[in-house]
Amino acid sequence: MSLKIYNSLTNQKEEFEPMEKDLVKIYSCGQTIYDDMHVGNAKTYAAWDILNRYLSWKGYEVFHVMNITDVGHLTDDADRGEDKVEKAAREKHLEPMELVTEQVRKWYREMDELNMKRHNVIPRATGHMIEMIEAVKEIINNGFAYEENGSVYFDVEKFNEEHGYPKLGGRTLDHLETGAGGRVSEEELEEKRSPYDFALWIKADSSHIMKWPSPWSIGYPGWHLECSVMGIKYLGKKFDFHTGGVDHIFPHHPNERAQNIAIKDMDEEPINYWIHSEHITVEGEKMSKSKGNFYTVADLLNEFEPEVIRTFFASIHYRSQSDFSFRSLVESRKKLERFQNTLRNIEEREGGNDVDLEEDIPWIKDEFQKAMDNDLNTPLAMSKLLEFCNKVNKNLNNEKPILEEAKQTLVELLGVLGIDIKKEKKTKNIEAESHIDLLLEIREKLREKGEYELADHIRENLKKSGISVEDSEEGPTWYVS
Ligand code: AMP
Ligand code: ZN
Repeated sequence: MSLKIYNSLTNQKEEFEPMEKDLVKIYSCGQTIYDDMHVGNAKTYAAWDILNRYLSWKGYEVFHVMNITDVGHLTDDADRGEDKVEKAAREKHLEPMELVTEQVRKWYREMDELNMKRHNVIPRATGHMIEMIEAVKEIINNGFAYEENGSVYFDVEKFNEEHGYPKLGGRTLDHLETGAGGRVSEEELEEKRSPYDFALWIKADSSHIMKWPSPWSIGYPGWHLECSVMGIKYLGKKFDFHTGGVDHIFPHHPNERAQNIAIKDMDEEPINYWIHSEHITVEGEKMSKSKGNFYTVADLLNEFEPEVIRTFFASIHYRSQSDFSFRSLVESRKKLERFQNTLRNIEEREGGNDVDLEEDIPWIKDEFQKAMDNDLNTPLAMSKLLEFCNKVNKNLNNEKPILEEAKQTLVELLGVLGIDIKKEKKTKNIEAESHIDLLLEIREKLREKGEYELADHIRENLKKSGISVEDSEEGPTWYVS
């Protein structure tokens, strides 16, 4: 059975065929590291973690690169504006690289905690400046870029005539107003031959901190360039998968594709499958650092075990949008408990023989694979695994070896979804819950004494931490809002 996956290059589900037998190469666009990882970022990384784990489970060797963007990603994702890292560092009175060091450490810790398999290479843009400058020279030499006033721009109309642009998402140039995504300033219009053109190298003004000498100016690379360069460096001229959130369908990924082709002056497609994960939203709007409507992974990890968060991610199809709510995490916890209870039931059960489970083990492996082969349908895979748990729980009189095999199968298949079911349960939720109860008890005492201001202070602060308190005749109750 082979994997069918939705390719944004052709806008259809396609059967996956690796370029090299048994080896799969994946490049995933990673974190712009000026702020904490939020739930939306993590959901997208979990999708690629599952892709990696599933392909490994099917017997492929997987080589996975995920970059960290520490320079060149400008506010509004455009070609002019402030560098996101520089802006955040200035606000925190830190050196840009000091902020990056701190954020990278946090990011690694949280990715590990979320049980994301470590990528083979996690390159950072600032470590690849020489390669980026060389790539810009190649693009100019191959006739797809020009210099103007110290900045270098990609000639989109010329590229479009030969290779099609933006192509991803089924769009053509007529669908677009600009090539960089954001607004085009007057200054850029004076330099760009066409508003479709996007920057490869940008001349820095005097206030810019992160800048490097180049043949064109002291400046810095365009955001799109780094991924092309690091992808080629670690995966080669051609590779299998390039992944990112749907916000990358335009402009980031078409610009990357154009650069990859132009750097190597190729006639073929450099990447076979462009895969995009839908957004996590908050009240219908994309969760994003710049909008400020985000929940960080750190916040969630304070409240929920990592396995609950991974169960939540696996319950959403990577191409479905999902509105974030604490309720859905509570539901995910219940689902996880059903898996955990099944394991416990097996462990505590003696031998005997009742209805045969022997056929159910190949059945679940088959159903799991069918669901996953159909564009990584993780919600369907999860529901089949829950069905399997029901079968096991009804047949606990089976011979011990078969029950043991059922247990191994459950652990193995949940592991493919990134859910480590055998991990010891942490007590932090129980501790947190007893602290909330204690605060409510103190609040009641304060109210009895007429100290309403202090009582309200407790309630408001709990609210800020996402805990809503409701008073009733039986006393106060709380829930995660
Ligand atoms: P950024 O740090 O903004 O460069 O984003 C890092 C990765 O997270 C990219 O692949 C984005 O497409 C993805 N991403 C950003 N916001 C969301 C969201 N709300 N839901 C899902 N993925 C997201
Ligand atoms: Zn990228």
